[in-house]
Amino acid sequence: MIYFDKVTKLYRDGTPALEDITLSIAPKEFVSIVGHSGAGKTTLLKMLLVEEAPTEGTIYFESTDVHSLPKSMLHHYRRKIGMVFQDFRLIPNKTAYENIAFAMEAAGRPDDEIASDVPHILDLVDLTSKGGHFPHQLSGGEQQRVAIGRAIVNQPDLIVADEPTGNLDPVNTYEIVEILKKINELGTTVLITTHNKGVVDAMGKRVITMERGRIVRDDAHGQYIL
Ligand code: ADP
Repeated sequence: MIYFDKVTKLYRDGTPALEDITLSIAPKEFVSIVGHSGAGKTTLLKMLLVEEAPTEGTIYFESTDVHSLPKSMLHHYRRKIGMVFQDFRLIPNKTAYENIAFAMEAAGRPDDEIASDVPHILDLVDLTSKGGHFPHQLSGGEQQRVAIGRAIVNQPDLIVADEPTGNLDPVNTYEIVEILKKINELGTTVLITTHNKGVVDAMGKRVITMERGRIVRDDAHGQYIL
């Protein structure tokens, strides 16, 4: 589903961020990318999302070379990917329900689908009783659950979560891990970056370790070893 073919990235100032990365991720996999700050994790995600161009190599998503897509198709491509960020990025003056509904409106989904799908998604992320709450009335973990709901509501092929538990305490981290696992079990590919050893060990799934722009380990049922 995702294939990085000999990808190297030098930033304009010459900083090597990725060096000769070859990586494939199959549909329905759950993959954690770990590594110290500066290892190249964010750059890898930016290549996949076509936010930065590779210096060398090719990135395929479902057999399409995504960096060859015309600008007009990028919007469509990015809709296949649901994004989750460390800092949640919810719309502050919209409720949990409205944040999720807004993602459906933006994708042009009709009102009847929105009315039937949003409650289902709130249930999936265990927030049925808090749909009317604004972000400031929710804990960090609850805000991240809304963000995950928003990321999955348009049924993306892939969820990309960049340090999704970076701002959360252990209890909330555990809940986020459980929800991501559930989403993966329902058939969505999940790719996360994390510094959190507990998260990786609890997953018991594939772990890719990066160091200075290179993949130094790739374990099918990995543990966090740095
Ligand atoms: P990580 O996400 O693992 O912390 P990054 O992908 O952010 O790593 O960074 C990899 C390397 O690329 C680091 O040396 C970082 O300083 C450098 N880097 C990241 N973004 C830029 C940029 N826009 N311009 C120049 N160098 C950058």
